[in-house]
Amino acid sequence: MKDNLGRNIDYLRISVTDKCNLRCKYCMPAGGVPLIPHEELLTLEELYRVAAIFAGLGIKKIRLTGGEPLVRKNFIWLVEKIHAISGIEEIGMTTNGVLFAEKAEDLKKAGLTSVNISLDTRDKDVFAKITGVDAYEKVNRAIAMALEAGIHVKINCVPCKELNEDSLLQVAELAKNAPIDVRFIELMPIGCGKEFTGIASDALLERLEYAFGKAQSYEGKLGNGPASYYAFPDFQGKLGFISPMSHSFCNSCNRVRLTAEGRLKLCLHSDKGMELKPLLRAGLSNEKIKEQIEAAVLGKPKEHHFTEEQAEADKRKMFQIGG
Ligand code: SAM
Ligand code: SF4
Repeated sequence: MKDNLGRNIDYLRISVTDKCNLRCKYCMPAGGVPLIPHEELLTLEELYRVAAIFAGLGIKKIRLTGGEPLVRKNFIWLVEKIHAISGIEEIGMTTNGVLFAEKAEDLKKAGLTSVNISLDTRDKDVFAKITGVDAYEKVNRAIAMALEAGIHVKINCVPCKELNEDSLLQVAELAKNAPIDVRFIELMPIGCGKEFTGIASDALLERLEYAFGKAQSYEGKLGNGPASYYAFPDFQGKLGFISPMSHSFCNSCNRVRLTAEGRLKLCLHSDKGMELKPLLRAGLSNEKIKEQIEAAVLGKPKEHHFTEEQAEADKRKMFQIGG
């Protein structure tokens, strides 16, 4: 499926819930948030149907995210069903890892090909300060169990001056002794993210080179996203940078998103999109829904404007969009 600018859209990110078992300071307000009532969420059967409709439109890779996807009941059923859809080549998930270890084997069997585990520090106390929960060991175990199950592991780390600046080298070192790719994501001024100061990728790369030696830009394929990867001397995995703030990658954007309540979002930071839930619940055929999605995708915004106030900016927070 192509948009008006000729970009090929073959990647769908599905948020399965807005609920989460952590409260990362830059993502979720500690005081709680109004959550989507259960009946407003798409059911797992509806999520599966949407995935099948998108596969018919040329989507090849699906990422399941949230909120925390593993707090959604019967999540593994959804992975299994999506795995069986013809045309879907990869299923990834993004998770905080807290509930992952005991499900790793079953997720692998269900067809999960890769997991992005979010980890901003390897210091147990700093972890508890950032997330509000003393669960570092569980995430550590999740990484080990994912590797053991043969699932490709990437770590997502959001460098933030006030929260984890002193933890970044240790997080990077996860890529040294295991085949794990560690990606540093520039903090975006979305929701609580506005209250913190991110660290630019170029400045961090300089620090990493100072600590670990000269990096070689890596041109091989490591996923479908906007990360730039580097090989470091004696590292098994690569270090990557996702730089929405300092380097725009909108001209090669290949993705659209589905929120847990069924809104198709055409860009992370824009409210442009369409409501799929009424169509799914009005008895329309998959063919009719497909036509409407194709028409909507043509209007995918050219680029995001994080650095300016944008009239059409989405007011949703990261855990509501599905980061
Ligand atoms: N709960 C899961 C997790 O943490 O992996 C999935 C959802 S979470 C919203 C997805 C990713 O978004 C995480 O890696 C998180 O660190 C990142 N994230 C959240 N808020 C962000 C922000 N303002 N800027 C950049 N990344 C952010
Ligand atoms: Fe939850 Fe993920 Fe947001 Fe942390 S980043 S609060 S784990 S949704």
